[in-house]
Amino acid sequence: MDRTKLIHGTLFDIQGFSVHDGPGCRTLIFLKGCSLHCAWCSNPEGISPYPEPLYQISKCTFDGLCIEACPHHAIKQNLEHLVFDRSLCSTCNTFECTSACCSGALRKGGFQITVDTLFKKITRDRQYWGEGGGITLTGGEPFTQSGFVQALLKRCYETFIHTAVETCGNVPWKNIEPCLPWLDWIFFDLKHIDSKKHKQCTGSSNHLILQSAAKLAISFPGRIIFRMPVIPGFNDDSDHIASLCDFILSTGRQEINLLPVHHFGREKYNLLGQTYYTKEFNSIPHLEIERIRSQMEMSGIRCYTGSETPF
Ligand code: SF4
Ligand code: SF4
Repeated sequence: MDRTKLIHGTLFDIQGFSVHDGPGCRTLIFLKGCSLHCAWCSNPEGISPYPEPLYQISKCTFDGLCIEACPHHAIKQNLEHLVFDRSLCSTCNTFECTSACCSGALRKGGFQITVDTLFKKITRDRQYWGEGGGITLTGGEPFTQSGFVQALLKRCYETFIHTAVETCGNVPWKNIEPCLPWLDWIFFDLKHIDSKKHKQCTGSSNHLILQSAAKLAISFPGRIIFRMPVIPGFNDDSDHIASLCDFILSTGRQEINLLPVHHFGREKYNLLGQTYYTKEFNSIPHLEIERIRSQMEMSGIRCYTGSETPF
């Protein structure tokens, strides 16, 4: 028996019918666990590697059923909301709290699944993918679960399913390299070229990320499309764009997708008992994105903006 089919991964979502993360129509697989904490992250429920309780205060009736049910005493009631000791939740296998809640205020964010079960689930979408479509792994950071990702990609690749991954690159090379033979495309996120500024907004330097990008550019024969979330006042100035272009060209690759910052994920921070980084929900002006695109194209980089899909 092929034991790799039984390897478990931890996901927080599976979404079909995506047309923005690779060629054709795709199924997106969201993996939990990321070593960055980007201030603007739109999937904060993907950062912890573990399943965790998601609490929607507007549905809570404060009947205390979850508090009674929790065997680890991880929930306290504070005036008009519940507070979770999430360090205890991270080692919880049972989630009695979510089973006890009758109002829908509590649900489990994240689940475990084997390669075999996931493969059967996603291949139900195959008829919708068409000729060019397939799967894209995203998250969270997929390469934090390297063994699972490798086994899943291999299974897909061997059955002629187009495979892509979106990575932040902040993982050891030993996690990335074994997955490469089973990948067609890589979306590689770059947030800032200056390591100090990178750390201010993501919690981590960019050393490993730039190393991973340079190594991938040499050793991966498939398509690499860099991606940059455009954050006003952080990485959109022309000096930074010039440095970013120099780095991309130094790798020998020449494609980037600019993603204007959006705030669709801000409500999820409430579910996790966290505070979102900004109260200002302005979007970046279209003219500003066009200015960056023009600067990049003048440098010789092919630049796609937003959800524009050139694939
Ligand atoms: S996830 Fe587990 S530890 Fe956390 S509140 Fe629920 S039952 Fe308690
Ligand atoms: S069981 Fe559900 S409704 Fe009751 S206090 Fe807990 S979260 Fe609120």
